[in-house]
Amino acid sequence: NNVKGDYVNKTRKSEQLYNELAKYTPYGVHSNWRIWDPYPLFMSRAKGSRIWDVDGNEYVDFCMAFGALATGHAHPVLIDEISSFIGNGTIYGFETEYSVKLSRILIDRFSMDMVRFSNTGGEATELATRLARAYTGRKYILKFEGHYHGSRDTLMVGLKPIPARAGHPKTPRSVPASWGVPEDIYRTVLVAQWNDEESVEEVFRRYGDEIAGVILEPIAMNMGFIPPKRGFLEFLRRITNEYGSVLIFDEVKTSGKFYGGAEEYFGIKPDIKVISKAIGGGFPFSAVLGKRDIMELVGPNKVAHGGTFNSNPLSVYATYVTLTRILTRDDMSKASALSEEIGKALNDILSDNKIPAYVVYAGLSGGAYLTRSKAELHNWRDFVKYVNLDAMYIYLTSMVSKGVIPQCIAPDEQWTVSVQHTKEDADKLVETAKHVID
Ligand code: PLP
Repeated sequence: NNVKGDYVNKTRKSEQLYNELAKYTPYGVHSNWRIWDPYPLFMSRAKGSRIWDVDGNEYVDFCMAFGALATGHAHPVLIDEISSFIGNGTIYGFETEYSVKLSRILIDRFSMDMVRFSNTGGEATELATRLARAYTGRKYILKFEGHYHGSRDTLMVGLKPIPARAGHPKTPRSVPASWGVPEDIYRTVLVAQWNDEESVEEVFRRYGDEIAGVILEPIAMNMGFIPPKRGFLEFLRRITNEYGSVLIFDEVKTSGKFYGGAEEYFGIKPDIKVISKAIGGGFPFSAVLGKRDIMELVGPNKVAHGGTFNSNPLSVYATYVTLTRILTRDDMSKASALSEEIGKALNDILSDNKIPAYVVYAGLSGGAYLTRSKAELHNWRDFVKYVNLDAMYIYLTSMVSKGVIPQCIAPDEQWTVSVQHTKEDADKLVETAKHVID
């Protein structure tokens, strides 16, 4: 109660705006993932590593718009470039010179043959699964429990089901993650357990010849931060090759956490990659990259892909500037080093205080998950079993009340260190955590 009280005392204007907005929109937010108890903060501006709420409180921000910013807020290069660019108009309904430049850059940086642009992660994962089905002529998509690929009907399955409904861990059921998704649709998605080869083999044994594609987050970042066990991605590459299924990496998050995305980090090449979030420098941009014979299925009377805002000049130019001038290899590796420093320091504080936790990091992201007992987290069932949600609530809310957003404000999220974060910001997070945990 004290924790909630401190939060409420500092954020009265947020509370007012929330009460007002909740009259017009369900739960007072325009995305379900922003719901927070007693209410989410309302923000007014942001710069660099900092963000200010409507009450004037300053926060060191390690959420970075759910990982959509690795540039940090209002990066001066991007603001400068976009300010002059926008004078030329905002959207044309035609391609531009930068469509060409950016396509080349993405194909090179993420090492694929061809690319199509969209705006959001969810649109792009949907195109990826449509392509897999068109390419193979098969029905099923296999996904992993707890992995999130956007809130479309086609993939809102096996997301975060409560174990009582989700079946045995080795053979999870296709539980819909939303009301209103027809059974005919969610039944086309099979679910396996992350990091469990037997679970995947079992699905392939039963449905192998009908599996069009396997989609996954190379590091699961919607159930905390759960990397693949050693050899697991290699195994998925092998089994999809064996059965002729398309392997899809949903890199909506990882594409902006490692310079060349997950392939560069893990050394495994999928057939399709979906990229978005941080590469767009805070503008809505996503893309599907794939092997030529798959991508060439897109076209009139073939695989449909259209969108009024696809390849809009602002997003394309912002992504171009972000990738060429801001998310450079050098600056990303400095941000990774800072993220590692935070991870190590949090791990030390928690173990010095004998608080059970799972601390994990790679690239620009990581997380500290307070657990009920000492445990490593390998999949969604581990998350449900071990993570102490009450402790996470107290930790996150207390940190926020003390001016640090240590990760996105939900227990299953993670932090993002941008290229504008400094050692001072990292120290502030660590010192505040020490204070809160003591
Ligand atoms: N895929 C992953 C891995 C994500 O984390 C998200 C969003 O968090 C999405 C897809 C959906 O992206 P969007 O919210 O832009 O539709």
